[in-house]
Amino acid sequence: MKNLFDENKAEGLDDLAMRVYTSRLLGSDQDLVLHGGGNTSVKIDDLLYVKGSGWDLGSIEKEGFSPTRMEALLALLEYKRLSDSEMVRYQKEALVDQSAPNPSIEAILHALIPYKFVDHTHADAVVTISNTVEGKALIEALYGEEYLIVPYVMPGFVLAKVIDEMTRGVDWESLEGMILHHHGVFTFDHDARRSYDKMIDTVAKAEAYLDAHASLSMEAVAKEASCDLDALGKLLSEAKGYEVALRLNRSPLAHYFASQEDMTLYHKGVLTPEHIIRTKRFPALFDQNYAKELESYIENYEAYFFRHATDEVMLNPAPNWAVIKGVGTLSIGKNEKETKIIEDITSHTMKAILQGEKLGGYQSISEADSFAMEYWELEQMKLKGK
Ligand SMILES: [Zn+2]
Repeated sequence: MKNLFDENKAEGLDDLAMRVYTSRLLGSDQDLVLHGGGNTSVKIDDLLYVKGSGWDLGSIEKEGFSPTRMEALLALLEYKRLSDSEMVRYQKEALVDQSAPNPSIEAILHALIPYKFVDHTHADAVVTISNTVEGKALIEALYGEEYLIVPYVMPGFVLAKVIDEMTRGVDWESLEGMILHHHGVFTFDHDARRSYDKMIDTVAKAEAYLDAHASLSMEAVAKEASCDLDALGKLLSEAKGYEVALRLNRSPLAHYFASQEDMTLYHKGVLTPEHIIRTKRFPALFDQNYAKELESYIENYEAYFFRHATDEVMLNPAPNWAVIKGVGTLSIGKNEKETKIIEDITSHTMKAILQGEKLGGYQSISEADSFAMEYWELEQMKLKGK
């Protein structure tokens, strides 16, 4: 993990410009955040400027930060429970400029961290280690002394409440940051550069661990098989109810992943929870009989839905990505842009799964937690562009 901070570029920047600068540094590294993931903030006087929804850290501008009254955000912690849509409404009311974007769903958490600059990423390396059978012990050994380690809960209000409770009586000065199991990392400081440095150092530590214990060599695998993309496109379009865009990934990683003997690898789940909105929990597996394999994927998806649903409406049960045995992976979307996003996300997921296996077994969030995320009202809103 390279520290990209450039003293010359940072010179003379005001607080908000500095916030833009280091946010973009974080956002430029796909091993830290991917497609809208992560969020950052800066406190100026009694306002929290927090990443607005719909903005990407890599390309964020000053107007991408929502100026929100700190006091109003902190007052929300008084609630025992708050539905996510209520939280979004109250957060919007706390904006000093109603034309600003909706504050991030982590705004309350950013507000309660008593430092000027707060950085949050979904760093692959840290989450990969957490997403293993021994993840709790491994993270404890790596970070236990200087970090607050937070068990997995849903992002949003619940996470803010849990961290509020966990940090009562904790000396924040003793913390280098927070590790959120199965989710990501928070660092903070009164100085933008130091908060950024802490993030890079935190992630570098996990990367060094992975290099030492889970380095991947794409050993020679069986030579490439072939596939019939036209036939797949037809079947998938029928199942989705629209003309799908397909994107085949035959990178060494995708080919290696698709050539593994152990089929359970393909059912290991997501890297970081919000990916599930794009990718669903698992890929489909296509090998011999595409129609039958698609049917079985859909049946499994429906069974998963009915195991957990209360009053949710089922999303389209057809897959958003697939492993084509011996070939590579296939991203399935409405258009090229969507398939590219899915390909980026699943590339990071495949690497994490293969590395997690080397650490004793990859283990993502539970099926119930996955469902809660996939059918989260706020995520549904995000998909609809609200
Ligand atoms: Zn997050």
